[in-house]
Amino acid sequence: MNSRRDFLQKLAVSAAAMPFMPLISAASRRSILSATYEGQVLRVAIMGLGSYGTRVAEAMQSCKRAKLVGVISGTPAKITAWQAKYNIPEKNCYNYENFDRIKDNPDIDAVYVITPNALHHDQVIRVAKAGKHVICEKPMAVNAREGQEMVDACRHNKVKLLVGYRMHFEPKTLEVIRMRKNGEFGKVLFFQGQCGFRIGDPTQWRLNRQLAGGGAMMDIGIYAINGSRYMVGEDPIWVTAQETKTDKVKFKEGVDETIQFQLGFPSGAVASCLSTYNMNNLDRFFLNGEKGFAEMQPSTGYGPIKGRTHKGELTQPHMTHQTVQMDEMAGIILEGKQPIVPVDGEEGVKDLKIIDAIYAACKTGRKQELKLA
Ligand code: NDP
Repeated sequence: MNSRRDFLQKLAVSAAAMPFMPLISAASRRSILSATYEGQVLRVAIMGLGSYGTRVAEAMQSCKRAKLVGVISGTPAKITAWQAKYNIPEKNCYNYENFDRIKDNPDIDAVYVITPNALHHDQVIRVAKAGKHVICEKPMAVNAREGQEMVDACRHNKVKLLVGYRMHFEPKTLEVIRMRKNGEFGKVLFFQGQCGFRIGDPTQWRLNRQLAGGGAMMDIGIYAINGSRYMVGEDPIWVTAQETKTDKVKFKEGVDETIQFQLGFPSGAVASCLSTYNMNNLDRFFLNGEKGFAEMQPSTGYGPIKGRTHKGELTQPHMTHQTVQMDEMAGIILEGKQPIVPVDGEEGVKDLKIIDAIYAACKTGRKQELKLA
């Protein structure tokens, strides 16, 4: 799909369902739109030049509305390498001690925080105090109280806070959401979300409670939580959960290996989910309603996402998730665009309230009532 005609044809049939031209390849999008786009560009600094930060930076090269212009890192050698690769001027480079000075830098609009989970809270609040918009990776914090403090700090400092929920812009996911809103599944009855992978290196921060805030639930189970909400289209009102641990050396106290949890929704729909660091090939969503179903596998990986419904295969083409996400987030921050599924701080806090309740349910063995509003 490389020609302008193909693009226009595709756009004509799909414009109503898609938030911002997500149905074409990154290359054709870049070539078609760079010629026409004259709007404001969101100038972004990435904080934390690790594995996911690197992926986001590469994806941003294909963005039209967002541009990588700065870095915040504790590793000088990475800063030098990124400066050379992305043409980043010295004045836009910071470390964790001095990044509050970003306040005085008029050439940076937003900071994307992509560091270990437990650091997000303080870093986001510092960025907010510096008067810059913030995009924060999931989980936005390690509990709902911290998440709420981040929301409050951003509101107080009049900056926007978005959470890196890339699936909220993914075309096949959005098609299932459109079908559900359109009543094509009938009354939704059941959702199943299975998310996990077998984690390696026992010394990594993901297995250190101080930095990760938990275990698989914080990292990968959150996709099943968040997915259950956007697939069912409601916020849950109760949760039950059960934890199992096969390796107490690798998964220390407070670092969950495997948790099964169940959610109940106001309509009567229920969800049954699995979060684990101990199984591969676990990336599957299933939604069942009175009139039909949707199943996606893989459902939240970097893609291509694959899926089908009772009406047939989902055929929306793959686009690099982080490219679409950053272009869409630029629209949200700069123009106040409303995404189909929210990506604001309040959305992140809702998931953290559910995580808090899941951990409480595991500990007490009791059903937990949820009040997310
Ligand atoms: P990495 O370990 O690969 O990178 C984290 C980076 O954070 C480091 O490279 C380092 O960068 C910086 N950092 C600052 N302080 C510390 C510290 N005390 N220990 C370790 N690193 C530190 O992690 P990921 O990039 O995989 O994950 C980062 C965040 O992104 C997490 O919150 C994770 O949940 C999220 N994520 C989201 C994904 C998504 O699909 N939305 C996918 C993967 C991760 P520097 O050297 O520049 O300071």
